[in-house]
Order: sequence, then structure tokens, then C-alpha cells
Amino acid sequence: MGRLFIETLSGARIFKCKFCKVDSASYNDIVSKDFQGRFGRAYLFRNAVNLSLGPTEERMLATGLHKVNDIYCSSCQQILGWKYEKAYDESQKYKEGMFILEKERMLKEGW
Ligand SMILES: [Zn+2]
Repeated sequence: MGRLFIETLSGARIFKCKFCKVDSASYNDIVSKDFQGRFGRAYLFRNAVNLSLGPTEERMLATGLHKVNDIYCSSCQQILGWKYEKAYDESQKYKEGMFILEKERMLKEGW
């Protein structure tokens, strides 16, 4: 294994991985707070860091069929959510390339 590169986000409000506390996403990159994850409420982000992607799979979600990758913290390998690779429904296309992070798996530190 190579050396792990951890990206640090700037800004006052950063969500971190709950398990190892590396930065995951910035509050400023939230697109929607109204998503349902595996563990309850989840947020949609336009950008997220320190993640590794699982294999692409087709998954039926509340909003229809999507191609998604599960996303794992690249530091501790805990599952944090998923990434939208492709949406089949025209109204859902805006989510392509965006990230779902589970609220329950994120830490808000210092804000
Ligand atoms: Zn982690």
C-alpha cells in the first residue's frame, strides 16, 4: 500500500468522518439535507474528499434506478454513503457525480 494522502478542507464548518476524524466534506458544498440514507437522514454534497469508491452497481432508490458506488473513508474504510454515477430519470440527472454522506456517520467538530 502507498502512503495515504489526507486532504484537508478549509472553512469553518467541516464534516468529518465520525470514526477517524479526517475531513469528509464542507458545509458549503451541501446541495440538499433532505435525503434518506441507510442509517437515517443523509445529505447530498457536490464535493467530498478522502473517500474510496466501491464497485459501480445499479440500485433502486426512492427516486428510481441509479448507478452508484458506495463510498468509504479512505483513512479508516468505514462506509460513509454513496456516490451517484448515473441517474436514468431526467429529473434526477443533477445528482450525477454528487455524494451522499450519512448524517449518522459524520462528525461536526467545533461548530
Ligand atoms: Zn474515517
